[in-house]
Amino acid sequence: MASITLNNIVKKYDDGFPAVNNVSLDIADGEFVILVGPSGCGKSTLLRMIVGLEDITSGELQIDGTRMNEAAPKDRNLAMVFQNYALYPHLTVYENIAFPLRLAKRSGGSNGSNGDSTGGANGGAGGGSVDDRVRKAAEMLELTEHLERKPANLSGGQRQRVAMGRAIVRQADAFLFDEPLSNLDAKLRGQMRAEIAQLQRRLGVTSVYVTHDQTEAMTLGDRVAVLKKGELQQVASPRELYEQP
Ligand code: ADP
Ligand code: ADP
Repeated sequence: MASITLNNIVKKYDDGFPAVNNVSLDIADGEFVILVGPSGCGKSTLLRMIVGLEDITSGELQIDGTRMNEAAPKDRNLAMVFQNYALYPHLTVYENIAFPLRLAKRSGGSNGSNGDSTGGANGGAGGGSVDDRVRKAAEMLELTEHLERKPANLSGGQRQRVAMGRAIVRQADAFLFDEPLSNLDAKLRGQMRAEIAQLQRRLGVTSVYVTHDQTEAMTLGDRVAVLKKGELQQVASPRELYEQP
C-alpha cells in the first residue's frame, strides 16, 4: 500500500491546451478516492499519468513520498482495472489472474529493490506461490468454480472480477479503476459496486476510482474529487458533497 501525492500536475497534449491543469491532491495510504466530472474533464488523463501510461508535462507525482514522474509503469507497482476488462481471451480464468505474476517472474523480477518500503513487489516471494495467490484471490472473488473457463464463457460481472483478481494477486500498492462498471447493466452494476466496496474494505488498498455514476461516487469513496475542464473544483466527503444542507 502506498500514499499518492499529486503536486501541481499539468498535462498538455500536442494542441497545447491543458487537459489537466494544476491538480494537487494527497491520497492517503489505504484511502479510496473517487474522481468524478463531465466527459472530457481529464479524469482518464490523470489516471494514465499516475500509472505511467502518459507523460506528465509539469508538476510532480510521488508514491510514498518518492518522485515517480520518470518511473516506468512496471516500476510503479500500481494495478489498473479497466472497463473493458482487458482479459486475454485465449487464457483461462486461472491463467488470466496468474498472468501478471508469471510476467514479473519471467522478466527476472523488475522489482530490484528489497521492497521493504514499497511493499510487496510484483511476483516477489512475499505472498506465497503463484498458485496460492491465484487461488486465494479466486476464492475472495467467488471464481473458484470458474478457474478453467475462458472469458468468453463468463458473465460481465465475472469478467470484471477476473480483472480485479489480476490486480489483487499483484499485491499492488494501489488500484486505479477507470470506470470499471460502465459496461454492466444496472442490476449487475449495483452488485459489483457492493463487491468492490467490500473488497476494498477488506484489502484496505489505496484506490483511485474514476466514474461518472453518482451512486458509485456516493457509496464507494472516502473522498470525492470533482474535476472540471482539467481543474480540481472540490474535494470533499461524499456526505459533504451530496447530502444537502
Ligand atoms: P475524461 O476521462 O474526463 O473524459 P480525458 O482525460 O479523456 O477526459 O480528456 C481530457 C481532455 O484531453 C479532452 O479535451 C480530450 O479531448 C483531451 N485528450 C485526451 N486524450 C488525448 C490525446 N491522446 N491527444 C490529444 N488530446 C487528448
Ligand atoms: P508456481 O509458479 O507457483 O510454482 P506452477 O506454475 O508451478 O506455479 O503451478 C503450481 C500449481 O498451480 C500446479 O500444480 C497446478 O495445480 C496449478 N496450476 C498452474 N497452472 C494452472 C492452470 N492453468 N490451471 C489450473 N491450475 C494451474
